[in-house]
Amino acid sequence: MNFKLSEEQELIRSNVREFALKYIEPVAAEIDANSRQPVEIFEKLGELGMMGISYPTEYGGGGTEFLTTMIVTEELARACASTGFLHSYSFGLIGHPILTFGNEEQKQKWIPGLAAGKLIGAFSLTEPGAGTDVSAATTSAVKNGNEYILNGTKTFITNAIIADVFVVFAYTDRSAGAKGMSCFLIPKGTPGLILGEHFEKMGVRGSQTSEVVFKDCAVPADCMLGKEGDGFKIAMSALDVGRIGIAAMSTGIAQGCLDESIKYSKERVQFKKPIASQQAIQWFIADMAVDIDAARYFYMNAAWVKDQGKPFSLAASKAKLFCSECAARHSTKAVQIQGGYGFMKGAKVERFYRDVKLTEIGEGTSEAQRMIIAGSVLR
Ligand SMILES: Cc1cc2nc3c(=O)[nH]c(=O)nc-3n(C[C@H](O)[C@H](O)[C@H](O)COP(=O)(O)OP(=O)(O)OC[C@H]3O[C@@H](n4cnc5c(N)ncnc54)[C@H](O)[C@@H]3O)c2cc1C
Repeated sequence: MNFKLSEEQELIRSNVREFALKYIEPVAAEIDANSRQPVEIFEKLGELGMMGISYPTEYGGGGTEFLTTMIVTEELARACASTGFLHSYSFGLIGHPILTFGNEEQKQKWIPGLAAGKLIGAFSLTEPGAGTDVSAATTSAVKNGNEYILNGTKTFITNAIIADVFVVFAYTDRSAGAKGMSCFLIPKGTPGLILGEHFEKMGVRGSQTSEVVFKDCAVPADCMLGKEGDGFKIAMSALDVGRIGIAAMSTGIAQGCLDESIKYSKERVQFKKPIASQQAIQWFIADMAVDIDAARYFYMNAAWVKDQGKPFSLAASKAKLFCSECAARHSTKAVQIQGGYGFMKGAKVERFYRDVKLTEIGEGTSEAQRMIIAGSVLR
């Protein structure tokens, strides 16, 4: 792998950084305080081509490698974890499965809007009794003529209250186990698709999280993504891409923590000198800088493996595990460097400290990643 970014990628990174400083940094604390999804930021990102940069040009995208999308995610998360999360989610959990498994009509219907930042999707897999154990899902889709009737409850669904399209997983044949799960693209407003409880969260509060209930929800058979029985495969493929996104998001959070730590430690004077002159603080910062480089290589390597068309599931799990735990470790240190000020509402590191927890849980917990990695190492 060549670790040097292309000129275009370097330019995109610096343009997104500039955009984030101008439009995201000033509102990030307010987004968090009010649990507000920054729709206007995504519209602007869409106009700049940053939502669809890696989609094929025939669907309104920029046609770049997936790695470029991940660089954008990292830079957005460096300013606001919620924005980085939603950027990665849109491509990995919604666009990628439609592009990979959809027919031409489905791609034409959904991808240009996703690429433009105008359409929002909700990946609907988790259920109250089926988190890490996806196969324990109970949502069913029963064929009835040219329709499927869905019944069941999905929980912790990002974007549900504002989504235009739901990527929904349900059993069409429970007796076939994981091979009996299918996937449907269900437009908002479909009768029987009902929003349930809306959740208040500790972090990543700029994303909305809700329950979705399917009650005799009838959808035309042509809403199916892929074939009957492809659902589990589609879910795992989407999560593999999403995990690289969480790794890039984590790296952005860790970089944001380092930015704040450098700035604060040079300004804060105790014992008549900046705390940056104390070796204890220097070591915190040195460890952060080293780990962030490693995290960046990890997610970039996973994205590069995907871009080569090679199997990338294991690389994605390793990247997600390393980058999320790196960011969690250093968000604690970043608060420590700011002492009591870092503990107070309004401190950026206080927000990162809460936001980062999602990266160790969402799209497969750290334990789930260790299960995947150990399964491969011990095979
Ligand atoms: C903010 C947020 C947004 C989310 N958005 C979405 C979304 O848009 N769509 C969606 O479908 N889901 C979404 N999720 C759900 C997320 O994917 C699940 O929370 C996650 O997969 C874990 O499932 P769980 O919460 O049920 O935990 P559980 O699976 O119940 O796990 C609880 C604990 O047990 C551990 N554990 C479980 N099984 C094992 C095992 N075999 N070995 C060792 N340890 C184990 C876990 O690692 C964890 O520590 C979201 C979650 C959050 C917090």
